[in-house]
Amino acid sequence: MAMDVDVAVVGGGPSGAATAHYLASRGHSVLVCEKKSFPREKTCGDGLTPRAVRVLKEMGLTPEVESWERVEGLRVHAAGRILELKFPELNDFDDYGLVKPRKDLDQIVLDNAEAAGAKVLYETQVKEPIFDRGVLTGFRAKRGNDYEEVSAKWVVCAEGAATKFSRSLGKIRNESYPMGLAIRQYFTSPMEHSGWFEAYLDIRTGPDQVPGYGWVFPVGDGTVNAGVGLLSTYGGWRDVNLHHLQDGFIAQLPKEWEVNQETVVSRPRAGRLFMGASVWPPHGPGLVMVGDAAGMINPCNGEGIAYGYETGRIAGRHLDEALRSGTSPILEDYSRELQEIYGPYYRLGRRFVKLIGYPALMERLVSMGMRSKTVMSFALTLLANLEDSKTKNAEQTGLKVLKKMAELKP
Ligand SMILES: Cc1cc2nc3c(=O)[nH]c(=O)nc-3n(C[C@H](O)[C@H](O)[C@H](O)COP(=O)(O)OP(=O)(O)OC[C@H]3O[C@@H](n4cnc5c(N)ncnc54)[C@H](O)[C@@H]3O)c2cc1C
Repeated sequence: MAMDVDVAVVGGGPSGAATAHYLASRGHSVLVCEKKSFPREKTCGDGLTPRAVRVLKEMGLTPEVESWERVEGLRVHAAGRILELKFPELNDFDDYGLVKPRKDLDQIVLDNAEAAGAKVLYETQVKEPIFDRGVLTGFRAKRGNDYEEVSAKWVVCAEGAATKFSRSLGKIRNESYPMGLAIRQYFTSPMEHSGWFEAYLDIRTGPDQVPGYGWVFPVGDGTVNAGVGLLSTYGGWRDVNLHHLQDGFIAQLPKEWEVNQETVVSRPRAGRLFMGASVWPPHGPGLVMVGDAAGMINPCNGEGIAYGYETGRIAGRHLDEALRSGTSPILEDYSRELQEIYGPYYRLGRRFVKLIGYPALMERLVSMGMRSKTVMSFALTLLANLEDSKTKNAEQTGLKVLKKMAELKP
């Protein structure tokens, strides 16, 4: 069967759903091809910072968001101390986060795009691109035993870390940029309503402190999501055995969590984190890339859902303008805008993860930081990228100064 739409989206995760929602709400014909059937398991920590909360609300999901259990900040465990760090009170962001299993979250957000008018084909795997004189004009997708041929004015690649479709377009990650690795599992736990993102910084392999953190996020349904993330794979960290790391982390958790082999409800699942704008430029003739496919995960904390939503909506705006004005199929302005919004912060993040790849330095930073709640509160604002347009205080000034400094040559 052949289909013809304004915009065809490859993948129905956060970035694909956000793009589809933006465009369908503005009256364009949008098709999302998603290879899985939903609801589906997704390897993720399920943590949503105030950045993600903001975009969920922009997509009209305020009633849902307000009915989910809130997280007031980060409780950090390290160097023999525990610090409770609330999310800052800001103008542009709410001061809370959420935990929502991706199995449910992605369905809600994609349903929202469908309700706005997007057509979603589940169990439809995009296989190969179709070009016309160098311009991407669609793709072939496999649905059961059939092949669909989809023609579109623009194709949006939102395939996440799958990379198959991106590679067929010649788009690959810059391997000198950081890449993270993470693993997670669900457990039943009496601490299901702790109200905090629990972060453990003393994660070790042998004597070395790993450049990342362990987490326990309360889902609020009797379970917790517990896992370990490596923000840096420089300096040999890429070869670390994540399953051993996860087992070690679970074993070191305080007994009251009751997180152990008897309470486990799912086997560990691991994934790669494409960070720091590592697929560049995220556009081409007839093509726009969003979310993980564009390598847009925040290198400082491994958060990718909010950036998937944000880049999806920014791409949607550029495509909307292009569809209305009938301009060229090359959306350079999209990449330029991403560079303006994320460039300085991601450059800072790329330097940060290089530094924490040195175990001795990571250990020193953690032990110094944990002595001061002020320093760690600033670290929370910095690492969650909570820059505010109106608030003027020492944290916001510090964040702006660091971003400026990152623009200087090392
Ligand atoms: C262990 C782990 C923990 C994490 N924890 C967090 C966290 O707590 N908070 C956070 O913000 N981020 C977290 N992340 C990162 C986050 O999961 C990603 O950044 C986010 O999923 C990116 O969204 P996306 O839409 O770009 O890609 P995805 O969510 O990967 O969605 C891509 C979609 O495309 C579909 N697809 C792929 N190829 C094709 C194809 N050829 N045809 C059709 N469909 C296709 C896939 O089935 C999928 O549904 C974590 C990642 C890992 C691995």
